[in-house]
Amino acid sequence: MIEALLLLPFGLVIGSFLNVCIFRLPRDLSVVAPRSFCLECEKTIAWYDLIPVLSFLLLRAKCRYCGAKISWRYPIVELLTGALFAYCGWRYGLTPECAKFCIFGAMLIALTFTDFEERILPDEFTLGGIAVGLIFSWFVILPQGLVSLFHSGQNSPLISLYESLLAAIAPTVCIFTLGFLYQKIRKKEGLGLGDVKMVAMIGSFLGLIPGIMALMIGSVLGSVLGMTFLLLSKKDMNTYELPFGSFLGVGALAVALLGLH
Ligand SMILES: [Zn+2]
Repeated sequence: MIEALLLLPFGLVIGSFLNVCIFRLPRDLSVVAPRSFCLECEKTIAWYDLIPVLSFLLLRAKCRYCGAKISWRYPIVELLTGALFAYCGWRYGLTPECAKFCIFGAMLIALTFTDFEERILPDEFTLGGIAVGLIFSWFVILPQGLVSLFHSGQNSPLISLYESLLAAIAPTVCIFTLGFLYQKIRKKEGLGLGDVKMVAMIGSFLGLIPGIMALMIGSVLGSVLGMTFLLLSKKDMNTYELPFGSFLGVGALAVALLGLH
């Protein structure tokens, strides 16, 4: 319990940083400089107006200087990340596993929102995520999926690293091929390259079977919610681009947090 309380404020602050990433990375802007500013009046925001969640409530969702509206996405991302960190602390204690799922979850939250808002999945989180997932597989041993076909002995960090690598590559090749075929047949892009990279990132963190499970949950969610949205909003099914990465993010979060790995 104490670990959850320790990690909660840390998660809120990371959530605040994720908000910066969610706005700036799709626009190819630096996430370090300049300091946060109002998008409307461009005034730099003071430190006391950058306190996660609290500032949003105190300012009543408006810029202190010009009164421009502040998006609800800011407190939502902060609260989600805070809850994620607290949950991982409660569940795993202060362990490498806790660090792994905090980082993985934070990256998924960022990807879910950049895809939802901009239909962009930044390489910093997809390709960068693959690298981080591979590193963590050494410290937090993955269950054997594909590797067990070639190897039946004891699990070791090296075997876990192979599993992570295979889990990143195998689903990616499948989904890339499917996307390619879809494009040939329907003459339009089915999946962006960003989605393919995100599938690899999820595989590298979760391993093969849980990675495929995340992909399946994401696809079902995307089909059901996406179709419902398209029907209700009467948008054109052939031209409207659904944020598949967002559904994939929710699927991967479900697998990671519900312990389906
Ligand atoms: Zn302003």
